[in-house]
Amino acid sequence: MTTPVDSPVIGVLALQGDVREHLIALAAAGAVARPVRRPEELGDLDGLVIPGGESTTMSKLAVAFGMLEPLRERVRAGLPVYGTCAGMIMVADKLLDGREDQETLGGIDMIVRRNAFGRQNESFEAVIEVAGIEGGPVEGVFIRAPWVESLGARAQVLATYDGHTVAVRQGNVLATSFHPELTGDHRVHGLFVDMVRAA
Ligand code: GLN
Repeated sequence: MTTPVDSPVIGVLALQGDVREHLIALAAAGAVARPVRRPEELGDLDGLVIPGGESTTMSKLAVAFGMLEPLRERVRAGLPVYGTCAGMIMVADKLLDGREDQETLGGIDMIVRRNAFGRQNESFEAVIEVAGIEGGPVEGVFIRAPWVESLGARAQVLATYDGHTVAVRQGNVLATSFHPELTGDHRVHGLFVDMVRAA
């Protein structure tokens, strides 16, 4: 059996976090979605989602599973990646308020502040207008969410909330502070699937 060209294979990094919700959202958005844990599973992916969860744990497990360098290489080579919440932290070139030994993969020239909204508000929902998404705003679910503190010229702001950047894209890498996989609205995953198809 061959996979139709319009159904790209998108992995969800399954070291820790809300993997299942992303698998469902990606399938609904037209991708063939599967969990990935090992370097050899990265080989034939067209794209990768890094879920929400706890970025310090994800970083530790990426090291323990020998995934850190293989993931960094794939991102550098242009693999389309979408990070939500903890995943946004993972695709940041630089991190504030991380653990001392915490690693990121990089991919977007930005500084992300971990648990940034958490100090004001542990978790909340807000209506977010996302550039490139048609049909009105999306419901943003924020759970101890990071925000983008500053970003380089190649990065493009897709959404802000309360004056802070909460969705951003640079080349093939997309990141949101919030969790579209928890809402049943698959338009942000659809945007990512389109990025993967175009890559
Ligand atoms: N605060 C978490 C972290 O630092 C992220 C929370 C989330 O992904 N919902 O990784």
